[in-house]
Amino acid sequence: MSESIRWKNGARCAVALSFDVDGESPWIHRDPALAERPLHMGMGAYGPKTGMPRIMRVLDRYDVKVCFFIPGWIVERYPDMAREALRRGHEIGHHGYLHEKPFFLSGREEEEALLVKSLDIFQSVLGVRPRGSRSPSCDPSKHTMELLRKHGFVYHSNVMDTDLPYCHKTPYGELVELPTSWVNNDWVYFGFSAVPPVGNGIWSQEDVFEIWKEEFEGAYEEGGFFNLMGHPQVIGRPSRMRMVERLIQHILAKKDVWIAPPIEVAEHYLSQR
Ligand SMILES: [Zn+2]
Repeated sequence: MSESIRWKNGARCAVALSFDVDGESPWIHRDPALAERPLHMGMGAYGPKTGMPRIMRVLDRYDVKVCFFIPGWIVERYPDMAREALRRGHEIGHHGYLHEKPFFLSGREEEEALLVKSLDIFQSVLGVRPRGSRSPSCDPSKHTMELLRKHGFVYHSNVMDTDLPYCHKTPYGELVELPTSWVNNDWVYFGFSAVPPVGNGIWSQEDVFEIWKEEFEGAYEEGGFFNLMGHPQVIGRPSRMRMVERLIQHILAKKDVWIAPPIEVAEHYLSQR
């Protein structure tokens, strides 16, 4: 692993923003009975239906391109939403089929079958092949990296052991890791359900702004990498997107920050090693 990375165009630090467009899928995966509950189906649907248009409007205002990691089941359910993200120039990434956590699957065969099933959906609905993957609930298995590389992926993003990108070694070659952290994940501050109990209450967006701004400032100071992950069903609220917009303004005000979709960060990392 390199001690530091030379970022594109001599930038001091790199920033990648991404959103996991989970929709209803994690609720159904958690408990199939929730598929019959309008409360949870509504909370999930808020992401693709209401959060996504707002998020894309804010990103367009600053010409910031991001990655939307989308479960295959959601691509099938909301094809126009996924097409619109592509049309606006964003990257589309893999995020399971119905938000299955790879660690809890029965083994390599089931994990590979679900991966192939999702890739087929991306191809048939969107005509694209994702090159980045985020394991649902940040919970990959011991097979995940090898299977992703075998099926042509360039990077995975949500292992939590480092600040800077590095490579997983697999029998099929190297797979870039773009590490994340719970601290840069909106769900822990804003995700909520009373029954079943989920989340840590609803936090002030100002407190979260402070945390994220300082995480970014720390990365900037060290010449590092700030990798922020949101979920449209929680970050897509008006108050929270006003906060994200202020964060984008704060980042862009630095002038020497490279802000790019994760696939570009991963490819740059591979090219400069
Ligand atoms: Zn997710």
